[in-house]
Amino acid sequence: MSAVPSEITPTEVLRDEPLRKHTSWRVGGPADLFFTPATVDELRRILVDLPATMPVHWLGLGSNLLVRDGGIRGAVISTGGLERELERLDGTHVRASAGLACMLLAKRCVRWQLGPAAFFAGIPGTVGGALAMNAGAFGGETWTHVESVTTIDRGGEIRERQRSEFQIGYRTVRGPADEWFLGAAFKFERDASSSMDAIKALLARRNAAQPLGVPSCGSVFRNPPGDFAGRLIEQAGQKGRRLGGAMVSDKHANFILNLGDATAADIETLIAEVQAAVERTSGVKLEPEVRVIGDPVDAAAKGGR
Ligand SMILES: Cc1cc2nc3c(=O)[nH]c(=O)nc-3n(C[C@H](O)[C@H](O)[C@H](O)COP(=O)(O)OP(=O)(O)OC[C@H]3O[C@@H](n4cnc5c(N)ncnc54)[C@H](O)[C@@H]3O)c2cc1C
Repeated sequence: MSAVPSEITPTEVLRDEPLRKHTSWRVGGPADLFFTPATVDELRRILVDLPATMPVHWLGLGSNLLVRDGGIRGAVISTGGLERELERLDGTHVRASAGLACMLLAKRCVRWQLGPAAFFAGIPGTVGGALAMNAGAFGGETWTHVESVTTIDRGGEIRERQRSEFQIGYRTVRGPADEWFLGAAFKFERDASSSMDAIKALLARRNAAQPLGVPSCGSVFRNPPGDFAGRLIEQAGQKGRRLGGAMVSDKHANFILNLGDATAADIETLIAEVQAAVERTSGVKLEPEVRVIGDPVDAAAKGGR
């Protein structure tokens, strides 16, 4: 078992915390150590005190993560407990902290008559997760509006970085290695037409098209250039395909659902099978959008399923 830094009291760390409790797919084995720091100072202390060789994984709302059944060796840091800050810096600039839900960012910007920001309501994750993924919805993308970010590294050092220090693509963000987001400054436009009704209309469109209410991770695959992963999956006859407790949604083929008793292995195997079927029928190799982390369950534990 990994060492717990002496300065960190037992109430601040959970051992063998099941990650299925922290992911929207509701699957995932235990994390050796699970921290939910309440302040950035506490977070710094945790990072400094953890053994330098211990792997650290970051978790927002777990809405884009497939954690394997064997769980995570090392530490998981959840941003869910960090101060949720949202500040209007001037007429068009806003600073948001990593643990803030994207929905709150959307609603507050609408109230401030700033836009286009309503699209953030379609991303059921945190600002930190949206920065890591360059999440987007309804034609809007996170990094289109980022001017600078605050990062923290494995040694607890905090930096301000400009957008130009990152390479941004469709659902990809490349920047300095081993740094994570504490928050970002966004620039929007003044938008007198932005309203809560706009958010409600976007969410209604989403509810009509997506199987919400059943555990999933949203879109499993990135859309390939000029096409839609969902269309290719449907064309490959994969809609409704089941494996164990996992199923390709028959409402939106790019969603894989946990019907209740899916394991991460069920989902990961189904992802691979759908990917192979699409490649056979259309020649397109779909790339997963979801991030897969952790260890597969070991053979001994598997016998218990
Ligand atoms: C029903 C449903 C609908 C969805 N629709 C959309 C959609 O329309 N568009 C879209 O883009 N996504 C969508 N998603 C996927 C998901 O919501 C986004 O990718 C979101 O940005 C993930 O945020 P999170 O906080 O849940 O991150 P997590 O899933 O917790 O983490 C995702 C990745 O980000 C990293 N990360 C998290 N926080 C930080 C941080 N502070 N610093 C550095 N790295 C960090 C994690 O280590 C991990 O690699 C959907 C998901 C669901 C369940």
